Amino acid sequence: MAEYDVVVVGAGHNGLAAALVLAKSGLKVLVLESQAAAGGAAKSGELTRPGFIHDYYASNIGLFLGSALYREFGSEFMKAGFAIDVADQAYGSAFPDGRGLPIYTMAEATEESIRSFSERDVATWKSLVQEFQEVSPYLFPLLQLPIPSWAFGRALFRMGRKLGWVRTQELFSTLLKSPRQFVESRFESKEMQALLIPWGYHLDFAPDTAGGATFPFLESMADYVNGMAIAHGGISRLVDSMVSVLNSYGGKLLLNTEVSSVMVNQGRAVGVRTVSGDEIRAKRAVIANVTPRLLFGKLVDANLFPTRFLAKSKQFRYGPGTMMVHLALSAPVPWTAGGLERSLYVHIAPYVDDVAMADRDSQSGLLPKSPLLVVGQQSVWDRTRVPEGSETLWVQVRTVPAKPVGDALQQIVPRGSWDDIKDAYADRVIEKIERYAPGLRSKILARVVFSPTDLERDNPNLVGGDSVSGSHHLDQFYLFRPIPGWSRYRTPIAGLWMVGASTWPGAGLNAASGYLAARELLRTV
Ligand SMILES: Cc1cc2nc3c(=O)[nH]c(=O)nc-3n(C[C@H](O)[C@H](O)[C@H](O)COP(=O)(O)OP(=O)(O)OC[C@H]3O[C@@H](n4cnc5c(N)ncnc54)[C@H](O)[C@@H]3O)c2cc1C
Repeated sequence: MAEYDVVVVGAGHNGLAAALVLAKSGLKVLVLESQAAAGGAAKSGELTRPGFIHDYYASNIGLFLGSALYREFGSEFMKAGFAIDVADQAYGSAFPDGRGLPIYTMAEATEESIRSFSERDVATWKSLVQEFQEVSPYLFPLLQLPIPSWAFGRALFRMGRKLGWVRTQELFSTLLKSPRQFVESRFESKEMQALLIPWGYHLDFAPDTAGGATFPFLESMADYVNGMAIAHGGISRLVDSMVSVLNSYGGKLLLNTEVSSVMVNQGRAVGVRTVSGDEIRAKRAVIANVTPRLLFGKLVDANLFPTRFLAKSKQFRYGPGTMMVHLALSAPVPWTAGGLERSLYVHIAPYVDDVAMADRDSQSGLLPKSPLLVVGQQSVWDRTRVPEGSETLWVQVRTVPAKPVGDALQQIVPRGSWDDIKDAYADRVIEKIERYAPGLRSKILARVVFSPTDLERDNPNLVGGDSVSGSHHLDQFYLFRPIPGWSRYRTPIAGLWMVGASTWPGAGLNAASGYLAARELLRTV
């Protein structure tokens, strides 16, 4: 029987992050991945046509570049072929009156853009930027610390001392607001309010969900200050560089190898069994880059867990689904609004209430009449992704129900399977973009649609097409993620660890859970 110190189940970026830290420290590490490529929700390739490289799912790598893992391994990733493209026009919104609101990293250009909607909002924007610059040096590091921990407590205390206790309390009061309360308390124009709201709904914070203000605040400001980064040549180049550095430390990755169960002996994880029947021993630990629904009760026998833990794990809640529409275009998107042609992301809701409505529809099982669209123009910033003169378009549709029971517009009739309706719904999506970019349809060379079911087929962590592997609402975020009492990557089974988007600090390419779990594990072996 093959034997390793640590076996990692799943080559998502967190599984790879854990493997990297452990292999570097001299442990013998094996990563097993069920799919033909590593990366999980971070994958790219020629999806629609030869020569057109699409990020299948994740694209914005800002969190990754801010991670502790990147600080430690970044130069090695670069040597292994990873490179970055930064858009200095990160995002913007399109509106039905033909106007757009692009945000640039250049202050004057952004202020000019906002001024066309409200002079007062320019001043508000400036003060928000100043607020972000004051608090972000204390807030972002919290996302790379275990919770709860002394280090986290010390970082909070330092924040209180540096910012002042009243200022710190004001900050937390802001972060705990709903996205709508946050934007309405700051901006007067409905366009500026609409500009920030979609960032909350990249997670599952609809406009009226408490605690959702954190994300519109941090992401809108971080992308304005730093620009938005993507991986040159596609996000798989980032993942490939991680694998290459892992190999250089002696770590091994096996693709097309699905783990069917974790072997447990006398209450301790001792290895894994694959679907082809191979058994691989893990002397020190098994790290599962897998969501609770799959780990507790499927990969590991439910009877091995305390009843209370198992009951709590079954309550872990997934958010609504996401759909992806990928297009190969013969020419750039013909936006009506000037200034959007170079925005890396264009959000089309268009307004706050549209996002609220899309959430309500999908939570009730209805295909939304008009979902939030995140329109990604990656090839504008990375010309290696397309043949001369052409473009890719990456459209994230937020949100759709995992199992549609009806259609808010009463046009599409769901019959129990997304496979039958995904093309009809993708037509609705294209029609919506066409209203803001007349003539788009005539430029489409090819299209590939991923329904929520397709997302889950490719990566079982995306339960029901939930792109964030579990709701981030307050009851299952921070120290409650994934289960109250178990936010530090251990499980009730000795030697079995859990990392990934379903654990703190949640979804996104933050590489934090893999990195933190590996560090903690090293302290124990
Ligand atoms: C459409 C979409 C858009 C997104 N956009 C962004 C973005 O722009 N920026 C951003 O920061 N984040 C984005 N995210 C979120 C981000 O991609 C994810 O949160 C992140 O990739 C999750 O990483 P992970 O380490 O949890 O592993 P995952 O990506 O979930 O990967 C886990 C891996 O484990 C494998 N696996 C599971 N079970 C087994 C088994 N039994 N045996 C072997 N292998 C197994 C899976 O095949 C998969 O490869 C997006 C997500 C989606 C879906």
